[in-house]
Parts: sequence; C-alpha cells; structure tokens
Amino acid sequence: RTRERGEDSVAIFHASMHAQALQSLRLEGDLRTALRDGDLTVHFQPIVALNDGSIGSFEALVRWRHPTQGMLPPNLFIPLAETLGLIHELDMFVLTRACERILDWQGRADAGTTVPKVSVNLSATQFSRPDLAGEIIAEIARHGLPNDMLRFEVTESVLAQPDGPAADILQRLRGAGMSVLIDDFGTGYSALSYLHTIPCDLVKLDGSFVRSLEHDERLRTIVARSIELAHDLGMCVVAECIETRQQADLLRAMGCDYGQGYLFARPLDDAGVEHLLFGPRFTQEVTA
Ligand code: C2E
Ligand code: MG
Ligand code: MG
Ligand code: MG
Repeated sequence: RTRERGEDSVAIFHASMHAQALQSLRLEGDLRTALRDGDLTVHFQPIVALNDGSIGSFEALVRWRHPTQGMLPPNLFIPLAETLGLIHELDMFVLTRACERILDWQGRADAGTTVPKVSVNLSATQFSRPDLAGEIIAEIARHGLPNDMLRFEVTESVLAQPDGPAADILQRLRGAGMSVLIDDFGTGYSALSYLHTIPCDLVKLDGSFVRSLEHDERLRTIVARSIELAHDLGMCVVAECIETRQQADLLRAMGCDYGQGYLFARPLDDAGVEHLLFGPRFTQEVTA
C-alpha cells in the first residue's frame, strides 16, 4: 500500500511539473476538448522482422493536432492526461482507432496478404481499474475483430507487484488471446527478479541500449544474454529506436527477432501506412 502511494506521488510530481510548464499553453482545458472533438490522432510505426524485413506488426502512437501549437508529441500530454483522469479515455480512443484501421486494412488486403497486428500502449495508471480487461475485450468485440489482432504494451513498473491486480489483468488479456509486451525493457529495476513470473509474450528492449550498442562491448554482452534469456523463457524480443544499419545488423546477429525505428520507418499517418501496405512493394531494408 505504501509503495502504491509512493508511486502515485512520483507520477503526480512529474505530471505537475509538466502541467506547470505547459500552463501558459492552457493545454489542460484543451485536452478535454481535443478528446471530445477528435483532435487526437494515431500514427502507426512498423515493427519489422530482422531476418527478412517483413512487417510483423505496428505500434499505435497517439498525436495531438493542436489548433495553435501544431502536432504535439505524447510525452507532452500523456502525463497531463494521467493527472486529469483522462488517460483511460485516451487509451481507449487509441484502441478504437487501432480496431478501425485494422478493419480498413483487412477490407483492402488481397486474399493471402496478412494484415499486421497492432500494439496499443496502456498507461500504468490504468491498472487501478478492476475491469480494464473486460473493457478492452468488449471494445474489440464491438468491432468484430479476433482478439489476437491486438497487443498491449506496458512498462516494467506495472509488474512491480507480481501478485497485484495488474498481473491478473494481463493474464486475462492473454487468456483471451491478446499478447502482452513489456515496453522500455531494462530501464526499470531488477528485471531478473521478476522476469520468471511476469505474464508476457514479448519484451521490447529500450532504445537507450540500442543507441550505445555499437560503441560498448560490455553492453553488447548484456544485450546478447538478455535476448537469449528472453528466448529461453519463451518470449520474443523487439528492439526499439533502431536508427542505423549497424544497429540492425548487430541485433540480428544477436538473435533479436524484431526491430522498430527510423531506419525502417517513422510513425506513419493513415496515408503512409496504406502506401506501405498496399503501395509499391516495401523495400527490405534489413536484408537488402
Ligand atoms: P514508447 O511506447 O516507448 O514508444 C516508442 C517511442 O519511440 C515513440 O515516441 C516513437 O516515435 C519513438 N521512436 C521510434 N523509433 C525511433 C527512433 O529510431 N529514434 C528515436 N529517437 N525515437 C524513435 P512517441 O510517439 O513520441 O511516444 C513517446 C511515448 O509516449 C511512448 O513511448 C509511450 O510511452 C507514450 N505513448 C505514445 N502513445 C501512447 C498512447 O496511446 N497511450 C499511452 N498511454 N502512452 C502513449
Ligand atoms: Mg510502446
Ligand atoms: Mg518503448
Ligand atoms: Mg520508450
């Protein structure tokens, strides 16, 4: 209980710093309006199989088309949404958009074309909702989609208590056929102590490791062993923030399964995704 309160106050502290910095922009009131009026939009970034360059899935990333401030990145307004109690609505909006896009892609795909799955980020603060899994399952069912088209990304902090409600929620999602992915893997505390108990299917190695890979041999050893460990535990590994060919080559040589990053593609708007999926064939960045 004490820990819960501690974590909450840390979250509020960060969020209030953001809120202060942004007060002059009066984003607070604007965020409610944005959710209501559809000024939030979702971009999709491909997650690519490192062995053959094929698109394995997309990550849904929220954006705010602000009427006067232009396109705002999520790091500016997610903490605000958390403090204002709007994060559930925001994440469900992203889930809804993801379902709509998948349906649209399925409608355009030829027989034989596999439509990629989509990962949706879930804020840690959402795990206080006892029926989060039920709400998610109902939303996907409303679109008539099979559950396994969706994946959920959560950060390590969510799993700090292996017996807590978050573990139950994630188990329920997995039981219903969705995969769960640990985001920013390696940045939390003591990954080893809970890795064997966490209910997850994939780990997403944090970009900070990828960035230093080329220049740091010890780090390469740690990353290589982490990939092996994840595999031995039956999980796949995605590396995020891959920006160079060398990083992709190193990670592939270490057995990393998937990569995401500007080397392959930036987060794309609807037209960009359509071009990638249905336009001239995607050049295979990795193996070319
Ligand atoms: P994340 O889930 O770790 O998402 C990956 C971030 O890395 C994205 O930033 C993406 O645009 C960025 N990225 C991808 N490839 C590269 C690269 O090669 N180089 C660099 N430097 N960056 C790359 P973005 O879209 O700004 O999102 C930031 C964070 O905001 C996300 O981190 C996630 O924690 C949060 N977020 C985004 N969308 C949502 C959402 O719908 N709900 C919630 N709760 N959080 C979200
Ligand atoms: Mg993510
Ligand atoms: Mg991440
Ligand atoms: Mg990250």
